Amino acid sequence: MKIALISFHSSPLETLGEKDAGGMNVYIQRLSQGLNELDHSVDIFSRSFDPESANIEFQDENKFESIVRNFHFNAGPYDLKKSQFIDFVDGFVEKVISFCNKNDLKYDLISSHYWLSAIIGQKLSDYWQIPHVTTFHTLAEIKLSLGVEDGTDLQFRSKSEKEIIQRVDAIVVSTDLEKQDLISKYGALQTKIHSISPGVNLDLFKSIDRSESRRILNLDLQENIVLFVGRIDSLKGIDYLVEAMRQLGQKFPFRLQVVGGSLDASPELNELKSKIQEADLTDRVDIIGSVSQEKLVYYYNSCDIFVMPSLHESFGLAALEAMACGISVVVSDVGGLKTFVTDSETGFLVAPANANEIAVRIALLLENDSLRNQMGEKAQIEARSRTWEITSREIALLYSNLVKSPNI
Ligand code: UDP
Repeated sequence: MKIALISFHSSPLETLGEKDAGGMNVYIQRLSQGLNELDHSVDIFSRSFDPESANIEFQDENKFESIVRNFHFNAGPYDLKKSQFIDFVDGFVEKVISFCNKNDLKYDLISSHYWLSAIIGQKLSDYWQIPHVTTFHTLAEIKLSLGVEDGTDLQFRSKSEKEIIQRVDAIVVSTDLEKQDLISKYGALQTKIHSISPGVNLDLFKSIDRSESRRILNLDLQENIVLFVGRIDSLKGIDYLVEAMRQLGQKFPFRLQVVGGSLDASPELNELKSKIQEADLTDRVDIIGSVSQEKLVYYYNSCDIFVMPSLHESFGLAALEAMACGISVVVSDVGGLKTFVTDSETGFLVAPANANEIAVRIALLLENDSLRNQMGEKAQIEARSRTWEITSREIALLYSNLVKSPNI
């Protein structure tokens, strides 16, 4: 199959862990590679995110089979605000169509990611008359129900999502929970929704000796280390982890490493820094910023406990990556996290927005080496059963069924 993959607002080539680049970008990279390994070709269309990415060049017309390519088109300034992306959607559709016409590119199916790309995907699907499968990754109705704001018009986004849900040929979700949300909050047709779990890159995320990892990162060999990985975003709930750390005080001392997010000044980062200062923890928290996945593997392997205190999490790839490294995890009992963490078995599930519960679980694990090690081992077994090869095979099967008998 020849697949046109739309990832409009964020390119898979952007720095992971910064701005909006996170789990969705990893998802797209791994899925494209997985589809490619199954002999399907994938062209990824995104808006340019810096002057270099604006340089789209059509490389080699003869090599269309079985390759993954990234095409970027200018759509608004590089530092465009989230709320303004929508204004550039129509222009982007025109650019994709004219680029494909000029280069005689034809596709069997459109795979779109995030609501803005879903709008684009549906317009292209109408124009090209080919099936369209979308993955939302996050939903406006969830944000609305949690009362979180992200500087965009969530009501408008929810309305757009509803329209797409009616029209699209199929929707891929990461968990049955998301499937239920689509049915109950959006009135989606059950038969359209396919629940397919993302995987974890087991070639990269595996056990590496703890001391060796700490030496590579220049970390103390004795200290207790708790790790947080994620964008600095209120939904990630890092405030609660800082509060848990304050509660544990000197009785269960540990160093907290915060990996992910840009180190450029932002309201979210300022807020986090003042929270750390207020708690008098400046000496015990390292704000690292975003690192490559190749380096991230050493952070996972250096830590004693991984914590993901999210208020909501569509899936929570970072927690699964930590588990694949054999690390015991404390995660919120929300969204995707509870699909791969079994409480008291492969990790601890805690109520979201509850610093006290996080503190209790961290203390228990720091106190009890054998519990921590056993949990880490079980976590690793669980993570190893979830590979991108399985995810890609299931998604490829769905795509090819739609191409064979489209609903259009
Ligand atoms: N990530 C990374 N470097 C960082 C922070 C995160 O490579 O500094 C990657 C991480 O390995 C994971 C993804 O970004 O694969 C984050 O996905 P997750 O589902 O945890 O969070 P999301 O970004 O989807 O909210």
